[in-house]
Amino acid sequence: MNAPVFLSVVIPMYNEEEVIEATYRRLTEALKPIGETYELVFVNDGSRDATAKIVRRLGEADGRVRMIDFSRNFGHQIAVTAGMDYASGRVVVLIDADLQDPPELIPEMIARWREGYDVVYGKRIARRGESYFKKLTAAAFYRLLRSMTSVNIPVDTGDFRLMDRKVCDALSSMREQSRFIRGMVSWAGFRQTSVEYVRDERFAGETKYPLRKMFRLSMDAITSFSTKPLKIAGVLGFFMSAVGFIYLLFVLYQRIFTDSTTPGWASMVVISLLFHGITLSLLGVLGEYIGRIYEETRRRPLYLVADKLNFGDGEATAGA
Ligand code: UDP
Ligand code: MG
Repeated sequence: MNAPVFLSVVIPMYNEEEVIEATYRRLTEALKPIGETYELVFVNDGSRDATAKIVRRLGEADGRVRMIDFSRNFGHQIAVTAGMDYASGRVVVLIDADLQDPPELIPEMIARWREGYDVVYGKRIARRGESYFKKLTAAAFYRLLRSMTSVNIPVDTGDFRLMDRKVCDALSSMREQSRFIRGMVSWAGFRQTSVEYVRDERFAGETKYPLRKMFRLSMDAITSFSTKPLKIAGVLGFFMSAVGFIYLLFVLYQRIFTDSTTPGWASMVVISLLFHGITLSLLGVLGEYIGRIYEETRRRPLYLVADKLNFGDGEATAGA
C-alpha cells in the first residue's frame, strides 16, 4: 500500500486530453507551498481519447499521480465517488479537470479546515465564459431545488470543495445510485463554510455536460432530496375538483332555470385535453421516482474499475 498522505485531490476526467497535462502542472505548482504530502487521484471516466495515456505517462515520472480507470463512462458524479473511495488523505479536495476551478484556492481551503471546518466549498461569485443559458438555468435550478428540499443545499456551488476524512467516509458509506454529491455533503452536516471564487473559462476543449446530462443531474438532485413533485398530484387534484364542482353548479343552474342549451363540444375537448395532459405528466413524475427505485433495487456496483495506476497493489504500479 501507499504511505498515507495529508491531501488527496480527486479529478474526474472524460475526454480531457487537451487539458490534463496543464491541470497536472498547475495543481503541482499550487500544492507546493502547502508543504504536505499529497496524491492526485485521477479518475478516467471512460474517455475515448488519449486522457488515460497521458496520465499514465505522468504517473511513471511522479508516483503521486494515481488513476482509477473505469471500464466505461459512468458519469461525473460516479467518477467523483470512485475518487473518494480510493482517496486516502486526511483531507480530500474535489476539483474539475478543466481548470475552471482554480487550484490556487486549495491552500485557502486548507487554512479554513485548520480553523476547524470539516467542509469548505467553493462558492462561485462569477462565472466566466459560460453561456447566458447555462448561467440562467443553473441559477433557476439551484433556487428551485432550494424551495423543494428541507436539506440546506447552498446555491451557486459546484463540486469544487474540501472535505475532512470523516465527511469523505460518511459519503463513501452512502451507496445510492442517483448521486448528487453537493446535496449529499449538505445532508451529511458537520461544520461547513465557503470560500468565494471566480469560476474561469474552460482551459481547453468543450463541456462534457451537454443539456441531456445536465437535465439528468437536476432530476437526480430533485428526486433524491425531495418528494414534493409526488405531492403535486394531490394538490392539483384537489384544485381541479374544486373548479369542477363550481362548473357543475353552473351547468345544473343552466339546465334547470334557463332555456339556453349549451352545445358543449369545445368545453369537453378543453377539459379532456387538460386533464389528460395533467394525468400524463403526473405519470411521468411517478416514472422518474419508480425508475430510480428500480435502479436501487438491482444493487449493482456504482462503477467497474478496469485498471488502477500507482495504488501500490500490484496492478500497473509504475512509479509507485
Ligand atoms: N466529467 C466526467 N464524466 C462525464 C462528464 C464530465 O468525469 O461523463 C468530468 C469532466 O472531465 C470535468 C468535470 O466532470 O472534469 C466537469 O465537466 P465539464 O467541465 O464538462 O462540465 P461544466 O463545467 O461544463 O459544467
Ligand atoms: Mg467545466
